[in-house]
Amino acid sequence: MRIGIIGAGQLGQMLGFAANELGIECQFIDPSQDPPAARCGKVIQSAFDDPVALVALADTCDVITYEFENVPVAVLHSIEGIAPVYPPADALRHSQDRLDEKRLFAALDIPLPNYYAIESRDDMDNAASSLGTPMIIKTRRFGYDGKGQFIIKKATNLDAAWEELGGQPLIAEQFVTFDYEVSCIGVRGIGGEIAIYPLSRNVHVDGILRTSRSPVNNPKLADKASEYVHQLLDHLNYVGVLALELFVTGDTLLANEFAPRVHNSGHWSIEGTETSQFENHIRAIAGLPLGSTASTGCAGMVNLIEQITGATRKLEVGQLHDYGKAPRPGRKLGHVTVVADTPEQRDVLVNIINKSVIKAS
Ligand code: AMP
Repeated sequence: MRIGIIGAGQLGQMLGFAANELGIECQFIDPSQDPPAARCGKVIQSAFDDPVALVALADTCDVITYEFENVPVAVLHSIEGIAPVYPPADALRHSQDRLDEKRLFAALDIPLPNYYAIESRDDMDNAASSLGTPMIIKTRRFGYDGKGQFIIKKATNLDAAWEELGGQPLIAEQFVTFDYEVSCIGVRGIGGEIAIYPLSRNVHVDGILRTSRSPVNNPKLADKASEYVHQLLDHLNYVGVLALELFVTGDTLLANEFAPRVHNSGHWSIEGTETSQFENHIRAIAGLPLGSTASTGCAGMVNLIEQITGATRKLEVGQLHDYGKAPRPGRKLGHVTVVADTPEQRDVLVNIINKSVIKAS
């Protein structure tokens, strides 16, 4: 079997490694030279929407998937007659537009922060009256890692936000003073079977994920999150891995967004579960039985952003994953995962890694 993957970054690389372990070949499309996934399969160097390259990929692969959310939906539709495309294009469509995404959550009775669609400067005032401040203005499309966002602390700041983000479809959201953030990753097979990973507690800095810890010792929250992911997976007739990010306030979960793909907050699953999110995504789209998502211990993951220091490379704890990318401001270059017997031991190890990340080599 051969799987075609649109995008050859680190997610493609980890999918490729997992596929290769199962004896499955991968082929990628990516415009960059020598991308991370070149280590685990052939890369067709072309734009993601180049019709000739896409048809060449679909013609030579049994199934197509994608590793990032900004693939044009039309690209998926253009090849789904040649080879099956998973996750379904409809899931990608919802995830690409924050307003669509929120309407989907609401339609499925998944609780979410209050929001207001913005198309004009007047709508900004209406949003502030309806939601109160602080509120967050976000672009409806193409936002990631906190980009395309503006926090309105007082209704008198509206002009500055409009100047920066106006002229494109926007959405305002109630600012949630959450206790912490979690994500719930689920996988659905071609036959509709579902497996859910233990909840992960995530810390973001400047909108970028820094650390994930799993499992979260709160069965009630885990059950609720699992129910929401089940609803999404079944409603979308989904195949593959999906990640749902949520805010926790007391016993309540509010859905922030979902990603129709393997997710950074599930990287710990490589060492921290019996079957990683990458292997299960491959299993799902290849029509293989899903593997167990049970934890193998208390896992912690620290992202390596902008640089991988000498101190991190010399660590005697954890598993370093170096994606082989050139350093660049804000760029995710790798991660380190630890698995311990107790949450306390895990936190000690995470602290050691966190110190190495900031220590200059
Ligand atoms: P997003 O791109 O929507 O995932 O936002 C990135 C990060 O910004 C989230 O993980 C939160 O830490 C923060 N954030 C986003 N939306 C809100 C909100 N409505 N209230 C509070 N914090 C938020």
